[in-house]
Amino acid sequence: MASEEKSLNFIEQIIEEDLKSGLSQTKLHFRFPPEPNGYLHIGHASSIALNFGLGIDYQSPVNLRFDDTNPEKEEQEFVDAIKKDVEWLGYKWAEERYASDYFQQLYDWAVLLIKKDKAYVDSQSSEDMAIQKGTPSTTGTDSPYRNRSVEENLDLFERMKNGEFEAGTHILRAKIDMKSTNMLMRDPIMYRILHKHHHRTGDAWKIYPMYDWAHGQSDYLEEISHSFCTLEFLPHRELYDWFLDQILEDNKLRPKQREFARRNLSHTVVSKRKLQQLVKEKHVNGWDDPRMSTISGLRRRGYTAASLRNFANTIGIAKRDNLINVSVLEFCIREDLNKIAPRVMAVLDPVKLVITNYPEGKEEWLEAENNQEDENAGFRKVPFSRELYIEREDFLEEAPAKFFRLTLGKEVRLKNAYIIKGESVIKDSEGNITEIHVTYDTDSLSGSGTEASQRKVSGTLHWVSIQHALEAEVRLYDRLFTDEAPDSYKEKNFLDFVNPNSLEIVTGFVEPSLSTVQNEDKFQFQRLGYFTVDKDSTASKLVFNKTVGLKDAWEEKGKKEENNLNNSLKEINKYFKVETKPERIAIESAIGENIKNVSSFSLLQNSLKKNINNNKASLLFSQFILKYSSWKSSDFEEDDVKKLYSMSLKSESTYVRSKALLNLRDIENESFKNQFDDEILKLYSNPSKNASEREIEILAEMVRK
Ligand code: ATP
Ligand code: MG
Repeated sequence: MASEEKSLNFIEQIIEEDLKSGLSQTKLHFRFPPEPNGYLHIGHASSIALNFGLGIDYQSPVNLRFDDTNPEKEEQEFVDAIKKDVEWLGYKWAEERYASDYFQQLYDWAVLLIKKDKAYVDSQSSEDMAIQKGTPSTTGTDSPYRNRSVEENLDLFERMKNGEFEAGTHILRAKIDMKSTNMLMRDPIMYRILHKHHHRTGDAWKIYPMYDWAHGQSDYLEEISHSFCTLEFLPHRELYDWFLDQILEDNKLRPKQREFARRNLSHTVVSKRKLQQLVKEKHVNGWDDPRMSTISGLRRRGYTAASLRNFANTIGIAKRDNLINVSVLEFCIREDLNKIAPRVMAVLDPVKLVITNYPEGKEEWLEAENNQEDENAGFRKVPFSRELYIEREDFLEEAPAKFFRLTLGKEVRLKNAYIIKGESVIKDSEGNITEIHVTYDTDSLSGSGTEASQRKVSGTLHWVSIQHALEAEVRLYDRLFTDEAPDSYKEKNFLDFVNPNSLEIVTGFVEPSLSTVQNEDKFQFQRLGYFTVDKDSTASKLVFNKTVGLKDAWEEKGKKEENNLNNSLKEINKYFKVETKPERIAIESAIGENIKNVSSFSLLQNSLKKNINNNKASLLFSQFILKYSSWKSSDFEEDDVKKLYSMSLKSESTYVRSKALLNLRDIENESFKNQFDDEILKLYSNPSKNASEREIEILAEMVRK
């Protein structure tokens, strides 16, 4: 039973209702049905957590069913990867099943349907069939083959199976209703001819069942009580039920299909097809590239199974599609790693620091706490010596008052070690700092309890001892896409949003306690973030992946961009009030700067949309977006841009009209431009009273062209 205290989600409510109406709890049976045509992604994790979570709550079996009815796209590699991922997530399936195990049974049932005159062989071209299918608003027409005799259908279907026909020459269709309001009920395809090798059945079959014909029947054969799928299958439910009606025997459990919303994650794509494209076109290095939204990518990135389960449970399930911000996922991994990741010191952008009053040749092994969040994590020793690396950005020769790191004449603490004071720097011929010289307070060792050790200093820095440190390759990842919903724009391809700077590789130095790390070991590099050992790591060359920073850098960036844009919008009113051209230019260039700095396309697109209205300041602002953002007019939704131009050209303000004319002039798409020819001519032949000289000039130039 689902526990009473927690409120039930709508899926659990459906199950509870069924139990109340007499379904025995022992009959509950679920499945997770991946198609082995790619690696699982974070969206699948939601479906896995839902189905296997129900299995745990109700103590019911959950099958892992491979929906392998399309040999063109399916491979054993994917089957293996899927099994590994589900297992790694911490779930156990009752049985491993394959839709292909049921090919014979499905065939026998199809024969039965033919005999009952519920299915027929159609031999038209797919184009003809598409035309006959009708549209959502017009009914379909019957195929000329719809009334073939049972005998002829049986004969043809058998010969299809035996491989006597070429692909595309015949199909088997269910005989339902070409006038149904549900397009899927207009004699849907049950079988197609495919002379393809199947990863499990080999060359035994020359015909393959369609998803709709295979899925519900597989559920029925496995006695699945509840078949949960994503919302796009809602219109398929009627067909799911129709097929079941044809084969259902008395006293057998009737599976029930119900739908929940697909989970989408921001700044990535969750579609095997698109993920495959990223792999094939080498935007990433394989399905398990740490930037991918695949489970295997996330695992390699350093995500734990617990964090992914926690993520899936946190976002829960919904009835409507929506976009979950990736910061929720990052929150989940930070929360987990904070508890379990040992703290260590690593320097990723090193600069040499020399403690001039520390004896040469001396070394000390200082005590360092492994994890203050975990009482049992214990302590380790870290070596300290005269020459250390610190992070280059932790030192400034001339620092502002609020700089809480190292500068000349000020004190900071070295983590687990001593208080030091900046004394001088050595530079190369180009003025770059090559060494920082400091002195240390011999009495100030951390944890020594001396008065000196308790002195308050402005900051604490991490460091490594140069002589003892290990070199490491560190892979720093950023989001794979610059936009939060890269595949949501009508006019844009998701690949246009690939972040060119999503991977940066640096050579850093880590403390020697990391000499024996294993693949997937996880650490917090103090002050830098969480890191995990990559599978490329070897004893002689350590490789780490950055999992996530300690703070949400993107959230801060996004907020700043949004604020800047809002401020620009306020500033723009002044544009109409100032007297002189230089003043207007100054305002425009400040606003243009802000717009240029916005990296989020959706922020710009929303802002553009919001500002297409009768207010002249709004229109001018939208024109500035077109002019200054790094995106072209054609990147925004065409209807919006069209509306913006026609409103701008009718604006009462000469500034708005002029900017619109200039932007229009720069558009390359002639046919788009031509739509406004009439309005431009009108403005030219009958200029508005307030038209500036500049406006007239631009008009003249455009009309001449
Ligand atoms: P994709 O478009 O990535 O190939 P799919 O739905 O075709 O996804 P399947 O292998 O058929 O992938 O999916 C297995 C199960 O996981 C199905 O029940 C499907 O509905 C569910 N699923 C797939 N993607 C998501 C998602 N983004 N959110 C929730 N569930 C999902
Ligand atoms: Mg699919």
